[in-house]
Amino acid sequence: MNHSYRCWAEVDLMALRENLAWIRHRVGPDVKIMTVVKADAYGHGLKQIAGLLMQSGTDVFGVANLSEAQAIRAVGRGWPVLMLGACLPDEVERAVRDDVMPTISTFAEAKMFSAAAARLKRVVSVHIKVDTGMGRLGVAAAQACELIEAVGRLSGLRLVGLYTHFAAVEDDAAFSREQRLRFNRLLRPLLKAGHAFEYLHANSSGALLLEKATIFNTVRPGLAVYGVVPSAKRRIVSVLKRHLCPALAWKCRVSFVKEVPAGTSLSYGRTFVAPQSMRVATLTAGYGDGYLRAASGRAQVLIGGKICPVVGRITMDQMLVDVSTVKRVRAGDEVVLVGRQGRRGISATQVAEWSGTIPWEVLTAITYRVPRVYLGGHAA
Ligand SMILES: *Cc1c(COP(=O)(O)O)cnc(C)c1O
Repeated sequence: MNHSYRCWAEVDLMALRENLAWIRHRVGPDVKIMTVVKADAYGHGLKQIAGLLMQSGTDVFGVANLSEAQAIRAVGRGWPVLMLGACLPDEVERAVRDDVMPTISTFAEAKMFSAAAARLKRVVSVHIKVDTGMGRLGVAAAQACELIEAVGRLSGLRLVGLYTHFAAVEDDAAFSREQRLRFNRLLRPLLKAGHAFEYLHANSSGALLLEKATIFNTVRPGLAVYGVVPSAKRRIVSVLKRHLCPALAWKCRVSFVKEVPAGTSLSYGRTFVAPQSMRVATLTAGYGDGYLRAASGRAQVLIGGKICPVVGRITMDQMLVDVSTVKRVRAGDEVVLVGRQGRRGISATQVAEWSGTIPWEVLTAITYRVPRVYLGGHAA
């Protein structure tokens, strides 16, 4: 440790490279990989991650807003970027100027882009999104054909992509099958009529692991790129899980150690009372760093290679753990919140379970206060 941070995240760039290589292996050489880097690359740091992904076989980026697209442009020019959300009316012109591919769900949106293209003397590459059951964005599958034809007649637009999104791919095989059938029912006549899409996509990370039939010619993973296995009720084959290598480790330190007698209450609300005398360590991380308070009373951390339960409520900047089983704990010692220590490991997915949420939220909840330290590569 050549720094004196109180709470930090280590991002292993080699792990990201390996995850991307594994995704490439899974989909084969002819399928494009759209890496999803929204929300600061799932909390890993967009600038560094985008640079690394550009060197590691990403074909295209998926983002949630235009600032993210701009950040990618600042790292490397010429990479296609798809805006996964709908552009607001006042964002249309900027999207066209910045050469971001928009997601289109309605003819009205398409007309706005066509008009902006004419004004700016540009050709805009667009993706049409089809709602097969997510209910968030997209044209209803039954109206999709009509929209595709209409968009095809607008000037200044090039329809390069068609996609859909699973609503419950990690948990519900039957509904995912229904979504696949709806998308394929639309697709079959289109392809037969000679329509070709440069980007035809459906698969997020969960679908990449569970729905091979919808890999099409592009996949759209986020979480798996960062080496995290989605929480799932469906069984994900363990050989697939084994290939994913978590890129992020989240750490803090011990700041104070004390012995408390039986009957001592600990932290706000006095929800925990020591059942016997115990040794308690105070840690330099709390919900102000993004460690969700909902995990109070359930979470565990690693100190000295041992599992230590969090006791009492997690507070904004500190939390308490039972270190009775760990020998020689001292102020300054390293604590692992997510990651490996010795032979033990804690995954973001586990922290999510303790917090009653999903690993996506655990990662994106890590706040600005937590410096990201990059290991294993030349960060951009
Ligand atoms: C976030 C997102 C993804 C990536 O999902 P993961 O589960 O993280 O792989 C893919 N597609 C869309 C439309 C998204 O919003």
